Amino acid sequence: MECIVCGHSTAAGLTAWHRTCPACHYESAALPPTINDAAVHLQVDEAERETGLKAIRVANFQTIIDYAARLATPGAQRLLDVGAAHGWFLEVARKRFQVLGMEPDTTVASRTAARGLPVRNGYFPDALEADERFDVIVFNDVIEHIPDIRAALAACRERLYPGGILILNLPNSRGFFYQLSKLLARLGWRAPFDRLWQKGLPSPHVHYFQADNLTALVGQQGMELKLRAELPSVRAAGLLERLRCAGQGTPFSNYLQYAAIMLSIPLLRLFPSDIVVCAYRKPDA
Ligand SMILES: [Zn+2]
Repeated sequence: MECIVCGHSTAAGLTAWHRTCPACHYESAALPPTINDAAVHLQVDEAERETGLKAIRVANFQTIIDYAARLATPGAQRLLDVGAAHGWFLEVARKRFQVLGMEPDTTVASRTAARGLPVRNGYFPDALEADERFDVIVFNDVIEHIPDIRAALAACRERLYPGGILILNLPNSRGFFYQLSKLLARLGWRAPFDRLWQKGLPSPHVHYFQADNLTALVGQQGMELKLRAELPSVRAAGLLERLRCAGQGTPFSNYLQYAAIMLSIPLLRLFPSDIVVCAYRKPDA
């Protein structure tokens, strides 16, 4: 199999479904999506996920909106959020932009729309009108789920106004936790590695990038890198809440984990974060 970024032959990875490119370090997974499959849906308690993840994600979303406002052309208004899920990004983004969200999961989309957020049920770009264009398009933890990523990136270029900005927020294959999960998988404990790929969830990851190979792929669409940054994958805010709703733990073990993670936050800053954000600009002409 050829690498989708550089065309080099890919090599077998750590599992039967995992492959890596020895030249550019792009990683792929042959994990089938099961979105809108009711049986898998029952495994994911959306309400629990909502409370647990919100604090850290909203903090990162504010940073992303600040990037978008800084990089977009003066007077930029229209922002498209692909894979809007619960609408948390829309809630932050609509303070600055005129927003539209797109969400393929019918149940999630209708719940988000019921909260008064402008979200459309469907896939990007098929669910857009023929003439719809945007100043900013954002993918938050979405692009790594899309099998035909080249087609999605080509559609981004087509759907942006000249000078428009594409922002990709995604897992970083250089990240500390991902690297640790690979080490553990090599030692025989595969659960953390499977989990970071979201194996068995409705829409697993099919790509793992870092900023350089992602930029090479997006560059093939004639888009120019304007900003690359890492965002914290662990924040103090909301951490205790997150541990509580993740689960099975007693209050004592939750506090113990909380203390251990709080102590490790300064140490984690020494390593690459597991979240990378890149912003690209469509040329003017
Ligand atoms: Zn490659």
